[in-house]
Amino acid sequence: ATNSDIKEAETLVGSIGVALDNLPVKPARVQSGIGLISKRELWRGEEILAVPRKSWITVATVKESPIGSAVEGQRPWVCLALFLLWERSNLNSPWKSYFKLLPAELNSTLFWSDEELAELQGTQLLGSTLSFKEFVETEFERVRSEVLVPNMALFDPSVFNLEAFSWAFGILRSRTFPPLTGEDLALVPLADFINHGAAASDARPSWELRKGTGFFGSQDALVVRAQGDFRAGQEVVMDYGAEKGNGQLALEYGFVESAESTAAFLQSQSRDCFTLTLEIPEGDRFADDKVDIADINGFGASVSFDLVCGQGPSEDMLTYLRLMVLDGPDAFLLEALFRDAAWGHISLPVSRENEEGICTAMLDGCRAALEGYGTSVDEDVRLLAAGIDDPRLKVAVVVRLGEKRVLQELQGWFEAHLARLDKLEYYAERRLRDLGLLDDKGFMTPWVFNE
Ligand code: SAM
Repeated sequence: ATNSDIKEAETLVGSIGVALDNLPVKPARVQSGIGLISKRELWRGEEILAVPRKSWITVATVKESPIGSAVEGQRPWVCLALFLLWERSNLNSPWKSYFKLLPAELNSTLFWSDEELAELQGTQLLGSTLSFKEFVETEFERVRSEVLVPNMALFDPSVFNLEAFSWAFGILRSRTFPPLTGEDLALVPLADFINHGAAASDARPSWELRKGTGFFGSQDALVVRAQGDFRAGQEVVMDYGAEKGNGQLALEYGFVESAESTAAFLQSQSRDCFTLTLEIPEGDRFADDKVDIADINGFGASVSFDLVCGQGPSEDMLTYLRLMVLDGPDAFLLEALFRDAAWGHISLPVSRENEEGICTAMLDGCRAALEGYGTSVDEDVRLLAAGIDDPRLKVAVVVRLGEKRVLQELQGWFEAHLARLDKLEYYAERRLRDLGLLDDKGFMTPWVFNE
């Protein structure tokens, strides 16, 4: 962002019907492009700006535009993406200042070169980036045949090409927030200048819809609230999603959350994330029964678990794992007779064999995943400690290190679990206890008539 960008941002504020003088924040140049700086002290929950609906870009805006009938029936994001490209070259656009301020280049991994993507070797982020890319390409091909080609007079192929369409997709992905997503998708100029920063876990969302009453011209507005207290002169930020790991931040917004110093970064692991997908193998001789039990309990033949550093595997994940490897003498738990109670029984260790089975499966999986990365944890830590100037390389290192840290922690958890198998109580002992045949220490209780 340059000085002229800030002038443009001020013009924008005026053009969308918001009086800059009355706002407690102002657009300013910050490290991450343009951001909002507070002009005075702000309190948590305080309204910092409100943008009236007439200034948003919504499906209704697109419907009323010259491309409205051509995009009839398309998904909201497709309508908005095409409108962005259409309106970008309209010299009389009411959003002229806004378009000048939208970044021409985006840092989401979607826009990385092959060489940059090579730094993500073995990561889940690489997988999700490639699927996203394929999704946008397929969508573009569809839009081309359904919308662009039949309306050649409206859509100049040199403007409406894959590159531009991907840019528009990236803009929508990085600048729209709940509640204005999905069917209600809307770009809200000015409100979308707020950058990301972590908020307290109990903070309410920063973006809020205020319904207009219709009286005296009162219309809907998007209100932005402070998620915390801010000093005068401080940048006002909001959390783009407490549940979003660094991989998702990199994919959607092109940045990662990492502390200033390496030491602090190594301690804060809350954005380290790895999504583990477990699947009941089709070839399993009990596959039908297992899938049935999973279904009854709200899971499917395949389930994804988001693993976060410091939390260990969840109860549900352990139960699902036990179900996956259930076999041999334990298979009686899969019988129809036990159908409704099975999940409860396997939510605790079933047998030594079963528990050992989940440990070895997980340890093999972790080892294989860790071997797929191009670098080791130590190498990445050294790189970070030495300082990385290239922002994309830094994103790559932080994400691949984070994924590996989660995997290593998982590995540690299952190694420790494997070492305590002898100390666990299994299904058979639990049953005896429930029948009153075992005491608390695991000894057979004496026959009542012997006493
Ligand atoms: N800074 C943006 C601008 O100049 O237009 C306004 C915020 S926009 C909703 C989201 C984009 O801002 C992201 O895709 C990213 O490029 C940048 N951004 C937001 N928060 C950031 C952060 N904490 N670190 C780095 N970049 C950030």
